[in-house]
Amino acid sequence: MLKALTRCSSLVPLGAHLRGYVPAREPVSPLLRVPRGHNRSPYLFRRFFCSDSTDGSDPVDPAGSEMKRVEAGEETPESKSSSAIVPTVVKPEDCLTVIALPLPHRPLFPGFYMPIYVKDPKLLAALVESRKRQAPYTGAFLLKDEEGTEGSDAEKNVYDLKGKDLLNRLHEVGTLAQITSIQGDQVVLIGHRRLRITEMVSEDPLTVKVDHLKEKPYDKDDDILKATSFEVISTLRDVLKTSPLWRDHAQTYTQHIGDFTYPRVADFGAAISGANKLQCQQVLEELDVHKRLKLTLELVKKEMEISKIQESIAKAIEEKISGEQRRYLLNEQLKAIKKELGLETDDKTALSAKFRERLDPKKEKIPQHVLQVIEEELTKLQLLEASSSEFNVTRNYLDWLTALPWGEYSDENFDVIQAQKILDEDHYGLTDVKERILEFIAVGKLRGTSQGKIVCLSGPPGVGKTSIGRSIARALNRKFYRFSVGGLSDVAEIKGHRRTYIGAMPGKMVQCLKSVGTANPLVLIDEIDKLGRGHAGDPASAMLELLDPEQNANFLDHYLDVPIDLSKVLFVCTANVVEMIPNPLLDRMEVISIAGYITDEKMHIARDYLEKTTREACGIKPEQVEVTDSALLALIENYCREAGVRNLQKQIEKIYRKIALQLVRQGAYIQPVVGAQVQPDDVKAQSGSVSNETAVERVEAETVDHTIDKKESGNAVEAEIVDSSADQIPTSMDQSGTPEDTLEAEKTQETQAAEKVEKVLVDSSNLVDFVGKPVFHAERIYDQTPVGVVMGLAWTAMGGSTLYIETTPVEQGEGKRPIAHRCQGHIAEKDPENPFFGNTKLHLHVPAGATPKDGPSAGCTMITSLLSLAMNKPVKKDLAMTGEVTLTRKILPIGGVKEKTIAARRSDVKTIIFPSANRRDFDELAPNVKEGLEVLGLSPMQSESALYYNASVGFA
Ligand code: ADP
Repeated sequence: MLKALTRCSSLVPLGAHLRGYVPAREPVSPLLRVPRGHNRSPYLFRRFFCSDSTDGSDPVDPAGSEMKRVEAGEETPESKSSSAIVPTVVKPEDCLTVIALPLPHRPLFPGFYMPIYVKDPKLLAALVESRKRQAPYTGAFLLKDEEGTEGSDAEKNVYDLKGKDLLNRLHEVGTLAQITSIQGDQVVLIGHRRLRITEMVSEDPLTVKVDHLKEKPYDKDDDILKATSFEVISTLRDVLKTSPLWRDHAQTYTQHIGDFTYPRVADFGAAISGANKLQCQQVLEELDVHKRLKLTLELVKKEMEISKIQESIAKAIEEKISGEQRRYLLNEQLKAIKKELGLETDDKTALSAKFRERLDPKKEKIPQHVLQVIEEELTKLQLLEASSSEFNVTRNYLDWLTALPWGEYSDENFDVIQAQKILDEDHYGLTDVKERILEFIAVGKLRGTSQGKIVCLSGPPGVGKTSIGRSIARALNRKFYRFSVGGLSDVAEIKGHRRTYIGAMPGKMVQCLKSVGTANPLVLIDEIDKLGRGHAGDPASAMLELLDPEQNANFLDHYLDVPIDLSKVLFVCTANVVEMIPNPLLDRMEVISIAGYITDEKMHIARDYLEKTTREACGIKPEQVEVTDSALLALIENYCREAGVRNLQKQIEKIYRKIALQLVRQGAYIQPVVGAQVQPDDVKAQSGSVSNETAVERVEAETVDHTIDKKESGNAVEAEIVDSSADQIPTSMDQSGTPEDTLEAEKTQETQAAEKVEKVLVDSSNLVDFVGKPVFHAERIYDQTPVGVVMGLAWTAMGGSTLYIETTPVEQGEGKRPIAHRCQGHIAEKDPENPFFGNTKLHLHVPAGATPKDGPSAGCTMITSLLSLAMNKPVKKDLAMTGEVTLTRKILPIGGVKEKTIAARRSDVKTIIFPSANRRDFDELAPNVKEGLEVLGLSPMQSESALYYNASVGFA
């Protein structure tokens, strides 16, 4: 098809031309060069033949007969009224000298039109001139290719050639061509008869003398000739059939074929074939009709092959296109069906739309590099197959990326007074922590923004580390997120997994940001001292990266793969033992230790916080219950002696649960009396717990004093109720009261019963009924420590505690080696006569060994215990001590002063001996902690005698 179209570059439909069709010089696109539907044009036939039915000759065979006439020279064109051939006075056969017109592309065959562009102005002028002179003929000769040049190059060069040079470049055999029209530089020619150049007449424009050529005589009836001609015709027919471009033309063609002469058939075949110009020139030059037919047959056969290939190509492409179209159509239908069924969610476009919808409101706040990654992933999502695993990975990734609160901050509270109010509302005491938070807010207020910080709250369990964290978040108006890192050994928990792993998840921090929805939350990292040791990677280092203010502005989560800014996050860590926190982490923290509470503080906490919340949680009204101070005190002293208040909270909850049960039972006790007159004894029998019943009885007994009047009046009310309801209910039943009536009656009974319920009183005397026997045995084993026993002070993860150090002689006798050289020194100094350490074998014991104690600070206590034994004097009453002693008799400071002091107070110690270096720690303690305590200091530079002195001060 392409070839056929290319052919048109030289064989343009005359009709089109006449109607203003101006062909381009170079075939840019063959399709563009052929006007649509031109093959239906009435001028179609004229594109090939100069004569048609309009020339007034025999309509059946106009071309053939005309050509015959032209060739035979029987008739001159001017004798006809042809619209195509301009009538001239000069007969073609008289044209023996012609202007030579070079044809760059193809030779012109007799009977065909050809438009050409004449660039040489002189030549053009000569053609115009000759047309005017009524001798509108010219010789059209194919241009030979110059060696090394082709196509347009050859065409360009030809305009520079003149005279002999041009003559040499022309094929000798050409066509006498009639000039039918000249428009601008476009000249339309019609081929007439074959010519051969004999000599040059003039140079510019090249004019030559020519011979008119005729076919060699042939026998029309020659079978071979006939057969060859028919073969050409039938092949042509096939070509015309397969090629849609020429199909219409086939009909017109067959109408005329009958009168086609053999040489004409050959010319026709060669002219419409896609053969190259040399092959066409060969046909033109061939004067032997049979040979010419054979040449043409070759060309048209080749054309046939080409059109077959063309057809198969077209078919293959068509099939491919229709396959794709079908797929597209089915896909569109599927989409429509999914939409109809509401299954659109997994649809890629719906997904992208969802992500974009999430992005749009915060687009300005998202950092550029993140936006870029999101865009890339969105594009990737579109390209991936929805069922592929990578699609899911990308989808999840995008889900995380778009869900994070980029640049979203909650409005922080910079109001110190308001913050203080909130903090006090939630927690009693904890002044250090509260002060620090208020400072933080104040700085934030002055600066206008608040930076992230790491605060570490350390202390024994139950002192409110976690709950104050929540309260701080409330005070600062930040979102709160808590995660515990106790035992965490997988770095991926903090830093996230790489996306390539199946089930990969981002780290805790990214999860936190997603769940809180702001970029400045308060993150409580619980149990940081119990961070596990990882086998692959170190969780402590990962924590460091997360917490370090220097690094966390660009925290890189493995899953997210884009840096996130955590610099505005306020981290609060909690720990029991600060020493267990990895050093680099501790370095970056601001540690606030919460030592624990003394009895007085616990009372406040219990009264103002724990009781209140527990009461509300149990649905008990304040007027329904009274827990006396003595009960609370007993509870704290005998049941909840540990540093924190969690156990106290549990005990209070226990009390209130029991109270709740009692209140409900009292209601149940009254109701049956009112309704079905169940005896109180039955109720007692039904209730399982004896202690509960006794508790009720006791409560009743104890409240007698001050509620006696109330009770009496209550009883009167009860009696009244009994009477009236006893009368009323049966009657209403008799009258078969509606269910509504019964319901209403029950309701009134209930309200009356509630009014009736007594106030439950919890006192120290009945406390046992609520919380059982005291589980906590006093740390104090001795009222007055015997000889060889001294109370020490220890620090544990659970807070401070007191402990005894006991020493007894095991064996006495000459030569038994002492175990304490330093004590020997003391004794030698103060009591040289004392042989105790020289000949006594000793046993030193620390009771309650199951409790872990820190070793060094017991040094002082041990020495005193030994001395006490040696001197056979007990130490002073209510004395406890702590301090490390070196071998060179130096006293070193110890840790946990506050915890130890609190523990000492709990054990009713009145005098404490601390190393002097700890004096400052002691002085800093809250007054209520120090109250009533006598403190003696042991200087680090003190000699043994001073230690002895101090110890002896302690002796009773
Ligand atoms: P921790 O985290 O230190 O182990 P929690 O924060 O879990 O302790 O506290 C245990 C309970 O004690 C919480 O219900 C808390 O409200 C309460 N609590 C602790 N300290 C105080 C306090 N100073 N004032 C009021 N309640 C407190």
